Amino acid sequence: MSKISKVIARQVFDSRGNPTIEAEVFSKNTSSSAICPSGASTGTFEAFEKRDKNNKKYLGKSVLNSVNLVNKIISKKLKNKNVHNQEKIDSLLINLDGTKQKTKLGANTILSVSMAVKKLSAKLKRIPLYKAFLVKKDFKLPYPLMNIINGGAHANNGLRIQEFMIRPDKAKSFSEAIRICFLVINNLRSLIKKKGLSTSVGDEGGFAPMISKNEDALDLIVKAINRSGFKNGRDVSICLDVAANELFKNNLYSIHSKKLESVERSVKNYVKIINKYKIKSIEDPFAENDWLSWNRLMNSIKKTQIVGDDLYVTNLERLKKGFLNNSSNAILIKLNQIGSVSETLEVIKFAQIIGYQTIISHRSGDSEDTFIADLAIGTNSSQIKTGSLSRSERVAKYNQLLRIEEELGKKAKMNKIH
Ligand code: PGA
Ligand code: ZN
Repeated sequence: MSKISKVIARQVFDSRGNPTIEAEVFSKNTSSSAICPSGASTGTFEAFEKRDKNNKKYLGKSVLNSVNLVNKIISKKLKNKNVHNQEKIDSLLINLDGTKQKTKLGANTILSVSMAVKKLSAKLKRIPLYKAFLVKKDFKLPYPLMNIINGGAHANNGLRIQEFMIRPDKAKSFSEAIRICFLVINNLRSLIKKKGLSTSVGDEGGFAPMISKNEDALDLIVKAINRSGFKNGRDVSICLDVAANELFKNNLYSIHSKKLESVERSVKNYVKIINKYKIKSIEDPFAENDWLSWNRLMNSIKKTQIVGDDLYVTNLERLKKGFLNNSSNAILIKLNQIGSVSETLEVIKFAQIIGYQTIISHRSGDSEDTFIADLAIGTNSSQIKTGSLSRSERVAKYNQLLRIEEELGKKAKMNKIH
């Protein structure tokens, strides 16, 4: 048994330059730290992100109250607790908060401590972090879902869909997967340049050119895939995150153009682009409470992966509801949507029991912390979504997966997505 001697926290900054919390957990002279990420297109049902709303010095965005809570209250509460008993520590924090959405302490406050505890436990056991989760052997690498064109709330180009991603389906290794994405991204850059458009990038590292039609973005990606010598829909597949909460008004949607349309039309248009562009995965195709429309889409498609992000917010109760309603066949996993490592693992376990794909995800405001790379392998998750091959906070996760692949050597295998 290794006991926690103290926990401290500090305010650091995320990839958008906003304040966020880093917690550091100590056991005698050894410590581990973790940084909490932050979303922009957040679901209503996500756990609460605590910020110092009245602190004018940081436009209300500072997290100094959370830092205080860790230093003054949480540290005392966790003193002498066994660092290897993650569930007990998480439930202590959850009970100390005592609210449904962690509004008292803040999910960001709790999660930073929870992740740091997990890291310290692995460190003290002298095992790599990926070996400290659910899988104990036969580790598999996830397929990257690389966001290569940014729209929606992550850019200001007017594109309706938030994320246009590629997934290198035929890659036989993780390094091969990255090489394929590298080629497509570089060809895409040349194509965008040729059009006289900007190749600057959005929050998640994808290009954010001033094009406003979804189909123009899709055409560009297909061209980039072809130019790289790959076949769209076979070697490389296009995947989308619509983030439809942002495109929902009076029971109508403006997904496929600025014009609002009925759910029926939206479904038809989805099926059209799925067939035309061989799209393999669509995340948040409808709004977070529009369960019926999700089901309609599920009934209209055959093999497409339908992913619940804002729909489930990594919450077990919502996932159960989605399962009963046949809303999707995959779930996006974001630690800070629920606010602790144990609860996240519980959701992943349940999702895998019901046959859902689990996709581990970053947030649009992220950091150099690579916890999710290890989490993806340690939970046998088939995919990881962590932005493009640019911006160090995104690339850091890919680099960590490359290191793990190297460490696994011949035993390294890719996960299954089909
Ligand atoms: P967010 O975006 O982190 O801004 O919520 C990511 C996503 O929607 O998947
Ligand atoms: Zn999403």
